[in-house]
Order: sequence, then structure tokens, then C-alpha cells
Amino acid sequence: MAKKVKQIAIYGKGGIGKSTTTSNISAALSTAGYKVMQFGCDPKSDSTNTLRGGKYIPTVLDTLREKTVVKANEVIFEGFNGIYCVEAGGPAPGVGCAGRGIITAVQLFKQQKIFEELDLDYVIYDVLGDVVCGGFAVPIREGIAEHVFTVSSADFMAIYAANNLFKGIQKYSNSGGALLGGVIANSINAPYAKEIIDDFVKQTNTQVVEYVPRSVTVTQSELQGKTTIEAAPDSKQADVYRSLAKKIAEHDNSKVPTPLEISELREWAKKWGDYLLALETGEVRSEAVGI
Ligand code: ADP
Ligand code: MG
Repeated sequence: MAKKVKQIAIYGKGGIGKSTTTSNISAALSTAGYKVMQFGCDPKSDSTNTLRGGKYIPTVLDTLREKTVVKANEVIFEGFNGIYCVEAGGPAPGVGCAGRGIITAVQLFKQQKIFEELDLDYVIYDVLGDVVCGGFAVPIREGIAEHVFTVSSADFMAIYAANNLFKGIQKYSNSGGALLGGVIANSINAPYAKEIIDDFVKQTNTQVVEYVPRSVTVTQSELQGKTTIEAAPDSKQADVYRSLAKKIAEHDNSKVPTPLEISELREWAKKWGDYLLALETGEVRSEAVGI
């Protein structure tokens, strides 16, 4: 009997580090011996670039525009260490729903039973999560991914997007949707950034899976068109990504989060704003106050 593929979705606001993090997780799992597919679900279509020497691949939607019948194999490209790379793609700028690429691509792969055929261990969806509208909700809504993780920094807009995602997960959880594995805290360097994200996960009944520092090693690797796992496997940052990948691979206990109402979120943010101001003026020291 074929093994069951584990499907994981990684959400977060644009520019927060989803593709960087996802590609490093894929690369780490692949070098650990697993068969991995990375499925880019962002109209930017650059999810798999650092697995492919910085190069773009034709998207599922673009390929479907050129010909009516598409075999899934025509939209799967080989990346670092044999990782299967797919980009769902997006509509022509200004036209149509940005989520359509995801719906179309997922249907294509389901119909052709690709995951079974390739005998995959992991499929990781890298999904734009500023808005959890129809198309973008597909991986969590239709029982495709089992576990959802969100990449967030301690910035308010990233936390706002994470909180919106939690609302989506909560809504679909009654109808067999995916549950939340936790938050991947990215670009966490200052002590207060850790405190903010720790408090947010506490308020929303979830957890931080890994703290990923902002690192110039990531920048250097990206400029070479590579993941940190490929370009700097002996670096500290690569250790962080390997640790994260291991936790995600082993994770099996996802939950329904408890998102904050928008007024609660504003109130929460204001408290942290006051605290940061007090830090700056020297009235309090970091970690000296329990908020
Ligand atoms: P997203 O996929 O969420 O839109 P990306 O993964 O493309 O975001 O990241 C946006 C930018 O931030 C990229 O240039 C990437 O190299 C950089 N970046 C992300 N995470 C880190 C990190 N931990 N350290 C340094 N740079 C990072
Ligand atoms: Mg991206």
C-alpha cells in the first residue's frame, strides 16, 4: 500500500518570508531523504525560485492558457536535490480572481493522482495569506492540507494577517478544514519582538514552532538563487531551518486557534505600543513587565 502523503500549508502576508522559509523547509526535508513537492500558491509565482537557481518556472495557469489539455508532469519541474517544484500562477494583472490558479492546479493534480504516482512524503503549499478569500482558502478549506503554519514577524500587519488566517481556520474547522500547527516567528532579533509574538500566540491559543532570526546568510543565499540549506549548509541559520523542518515533519497535533476580535487586537497592539515607548524612554526594561 502506498504511504500517505503529508500535506502542509504555510500562510502569511506578502513579503514576510513564506517562500524563503518554505524553500528551506523543503530543502531540509529533501536532504533528510524525503520526497518533497513545493507548491507555490502566490500570484507572484516565485515560491520555488531559490530551489531552481533563481529561475522562474512556467505556471499551471500560464500553461493552461497555451493549451487546453495539460498533463500534470508538464507543470512539475525538478529543483534542488530532486524537489518537485510547482507554481499555480495567477490571472493576467487586473483581471480575475488571484485564487483561481490554486483551484485549477489542485484539481489538475487530484484528477491525475499525481501525489500517489510520485510517491511523495510531503507536499508543502506556500500560500499568500493577506486575504483568506475563496481561492487562497482552498488548501485549508477542502481538506487538502492537514496542518497549517503561518509565518509572522512581530510587526502589526503580519500579526493582523495571521489573526485573519486564524479566523478562516476557525470558520472551516467545522467542515473538516485544516487545523493550525503554529506560528513560525520570522525575523525575530530584538528581545521585544520575541515577547510580542509570544504574547500573541498565548492570546490566540497556539504556539511558536521556531524563532527564525533575520540573517544576512539568507540574503547572500538568495542572491545566489539558492536556499540557505544549499548555499550555506554549515551555517547557524541552516541549523535553524533544519530544526524547523524536523518539527514540522513530526508535527501531528494541530488545533483550532482563538483569533482576537478586531477591537481586541487593536487594544492588544496599543498595550504593546505603550510598552515599547516606555522601553525607549528607559521607564521599563525588556521582559521586566508582564503584559
Ligand atoms: P514572501 O514569500 O512571504 O512574499 P519572501 O520569502 O520572498 O517573502 O521574502 C521576502 C524577502 O525577505 C526576501 O528578500 C528574503 O530573502 C527576505 N527574508 C525572509 N526571511 C529572512 C530572514 N530570516 N533573514 C533575512 N532575510 C529574510
Ligand atoms: Mg513568496
